Amino acid sequence: MASPRLQSIEPVDLMDRRTAPKIGRDDSETGRNSAEMTTEDHSMTTSSTSSNPRFLIIGAGMSGILSAIRLQEAGLHNFAIYEKADRLGGTWRENTYPGIACDVPSHLYSYSFAFNPDWSHRFSAGSEIQAYFEDVARRYGVDALIRYGKEITRCERNDGRWKITMADGSTDAGDFVIAATGVLHHPSYPDIAGLDRFAGAMFHSARWNHDVPLAGKRIGVIGTGSSAIQIVGALVDQAAELSLFQRTPQWIAPALNPAYSETEKANFREHTEAITQLRAEISHMFVEGFANHLADVNSIQLQALHAFCVANLENNVKDPVLREKLRPNYRAGCKRLIMSENFYDAIQRPNARLVTESIERIEEAGVRTRDGTLHALDVLVLATGFRVDRFMRPMDVVGRNGTRLEEVWRNGPYAYMAIALPDFPNLFMLNGPNGPVGNFSLIEVAELQFSYILQLVEQVRSKCKELSPSRAAMERFDRERREAAKNTIWNSGCKSWYLDDGGLPTAWPWTFDRFREEMSRPRLDDFETK
Ligand code: NAP
Repeated sequence: MASPRLQSIEPVDLMDRRTAPKIGRDDSETGRNSAEMTTEDHSMTTSSTSSNPRFLIIGAGMSGILSAIRLQEAGLHNFAIYEKADRLGGTWRENTYPGIACDVPSHLYSYSFAFNPDWSHRFSAGSEIQAYFEDVARRYGVDALIRYGKEITRCERNDGRWKITMADGSTDAGDFVIAATGVLHHPSYPDIAGLDRFAGAMFHSARWNHDVPLAGKRIGVIGTGSSAIQIVGALVDQAAELSLFQRTPQWIAPALNPAYSETEKANFREHTEAITQLRAEISHMFVEGFANHLADVNSIQLQALHAFCVANLENNVKDPVLREKLRPNYRAGCKRLIMSENFYDAIQRPNARLVTESIERIEEAGVRTRDGTLHALDVLVLATGFRVDRFMRPMDVVGRNGTRLEEVWRNGPYAYMAIALPDFPNLFMLNGPNGPVGNFSLIEVAELQFSYILQLVEQVRSKCKELSPSRAAMERFDRERREAAKNTIWNSGCKSWYLDDGGLPTAWPWTFDRFREEMSRPRLDDFETK
């Protein structure tokens, strides 16, 4: 989906994007900075839901940082941000594997209020994205407010407020919970016999062990998702041998990744409007090229996407045997589309091997496949994805009348408009279940969701003490979502992490335009208030 036009935008206006945001850091009512208070202070803070509501933000990744910035902009300074790790950044902190980059172009994968004219590439590296979030958090005065090393183990509705308990026993209480806990962060380890017998170095792609030397080693990678494809491209040059264990082939869209020149960066710096225009173009390309057509599998756009991927395979893999091994038997876009400029090249290197025999077991010396071959390895990378159904869990979330989230989500996670749940008033999720996750900028998604949440917060502040979607609205939404999900490209004949245990896609099954529309104004009739 990367377009050759991306870098040819003519600037049309002058704006200074580096103007420091005018955001105060003092608590509006108490005159104290939230970060200066102790946990005990917070528990005792008298908060009025209308004049000075207290927000508990869980997670300091992309959406937690966004929440803090947006709350401050709205003049809502009574909040705390809790982060279980010792650093912000979420997925970009945890995923540091070689070759990691975002497959959404960097100028779109940025906050709408914090452009970065200095992105080095069209698809910038993970370390650069991590540095971007750290920089934004610092510039907007959010980093100092984050409480690190605070894992929330319990979040309970009590006497009309939310009380959170941390692993270290400390507590806090608030009127609203913003669950900015992320999606792709609980590694999924494969259920392969003998995993614990391997004598070499073995780790999950999201738990990369940077102490393990890779140069000249025999490296095995299990999996062919976005992570594995990037890892293969990054490691093939230094490995003595690289074996990719493929269970299912993937469609790959070519994604050229040119560096931005110093002239282009200077241009972006001086003419912010050029970034605005570029973002609009990329967003339009994602939405019109995919998102608005995912429920119309016969659409010209999805057919064009498929043809684009077929051509990439046909034109760039020479050996017909290898080409057929790499050819998926499902539609492009059914699994998350992989964007890569170097995978086909990497897998055709003399030291690379695509192993399509299924894995029998892991042994001390390497991977034994069903045909009896032992693939001897020094390093084994498990690029086997994530447990995507966890969301806020393992945190024990207990709503009104003792309703447990674990029980509510017994058959799989869901949420009204991907944001809220009956019986969990004033608790809102960012990038929660049933949201748009397929090949978009999750930053754009989170920004739209937060503007929706702020409108709900204003309802509470002006009209009531708490608000949650009615059961009827939840059921209607879920019924409609399930029905629509059947017609999406994700349901067109492949297995992926988009599917629930029953094989139904869980992601937002309608157009991105509809998502924007829904997020622009909550259907207040769908909510119950107290
Ligand atoms: P993934 O897409 O879930 O891929 C996991 C891979 O492991 C699949 O190829 C799967 O095979 C394979 N696998 C799992 N268990 C296996 C087993 N027991 N034996 C053999 N193979 C097994 O995971 P991911 O690559 O980490 O990507 C997850 C998501 O993270 C992506 O879809 C994307 O949303 C995000 N991501 C984004 C970027 C980016 O550039 N923005 C980069 C990395 C990840 P099957 O296909 O047969 O199940």
